[in-house]
Amino acid sequence: SKSAGRNCFTIYDEAMSAELEARNTLEGDLRDAIAQCQLEVHYQPFVDALSGARRGFEALVRWRHPTRGLIPPDQFILLAEETGLIVPLGEFVLRRACADAAGWPSDLAVAVNLSPIQFKEAELFEMIGAALADSGLPPHRLEIEITESVLLERGSENHAFMERLKHLGIELALDDFGTGYSSLSYLTAFPFDKIKIDKSFIRNLTHQPRNSAIISAIVTLARGLDMSVTAEGVETREEYERLKALGVNFAQGYLFGRPQPIERILFDAPVKRSR
Ligand code: C2E
Ligand code: CA
Ligand code: CA
Ligand code: CA
Repeated sequence: SKSAGRNCFTIYDEAMSAELEARNTLEGDLRDAIAQCQLEVHYQPFVDALSGARRGFEALVRWRHPTRGLIPPDQFILLAEETGLIVPLGEFVLRRACADAAGWPSDLAVAVNLSPIQFKEAELFEMIGAALADSGLPPHRLEIEITESVLLERGSENHAFMERLKHLGIELALDDFGTGYSSLSYLTAFPFDKIKIDKSFIRNLTHQPRNSAIISAIVTLARGLDMSVTAEGVETREEYERLKALGVNFAQGYLFGRPQPIERILFDAPVKRSR
């Protein structure tokens, strides 16, 4: 009936506005979080696959919410991207990561994720240069991880931008490889140093021969293009052994360490503090 229909709409409206309200609250909270330094950068090691030696850490953001506890990035990165807050958030993470890494032993790199939204910022290149200069971190110790969506949009502008980063000496990694609209032509067209195979291919690796075939093909391709390969999400020794046999260059995952606050990372050499 008509009235039931109207009720339906009322309920729908209420549900909508509750959702909108929750979103607005979260957006306001995230804005405060950036201003009030509630964001933390945690670090997960990656290792040389053959020797097992630590080669660096990936910087992963977390939000220490005053009432909700530690919030993982999957719960706020999308909102940050939709609201533009990813720009100040991303700058915070990059500056923090460069400052932290500048105090590590000099053979360790730091990898930082850049959002496609950040690529639209005119000042991104200058911001990265300033983060390096202010921290004193040599550019060759910074790796920037981007996903292929960056390559789909504004392809030629982003290509030129990536060339400038490479020219500075920064390493470029293609993140989550195999999950998106991967076209192999991207690999040849863009100046990547490293391909990170998405963890969905690593899971069940030992039970799924097809995944081995895919990884083996990626390794062969990368070698031909003079790029290295990282396997992420390595959780078991069996997976690690298999990946070594398949020829991946680097490995990252819970087997080698979970993301941790900087205070919990142990270094062989003394660490300079730059806070
Ligand atoms: P990602 O860049 O692919 O990062 C790897 C994710 O896999 C991290 O999740 C990490 O904790 C998780 N991981 C690592 N090893 C294992 C493993 O052995 N098993 C499993 N199951 N997972 C593992 P996290 O920290 O929750 O980050 C999720 C995503 O959020 C990241 O995926 C990245 O896309 C995004 N993100 C994190 N920090 C930043 C940031 O500072 N800026 C931007 N733009 N995005 C970020
Ligand atoms: Ca990443
Ligand atoms: Ca990834
Ligand atoms: Ca990801």
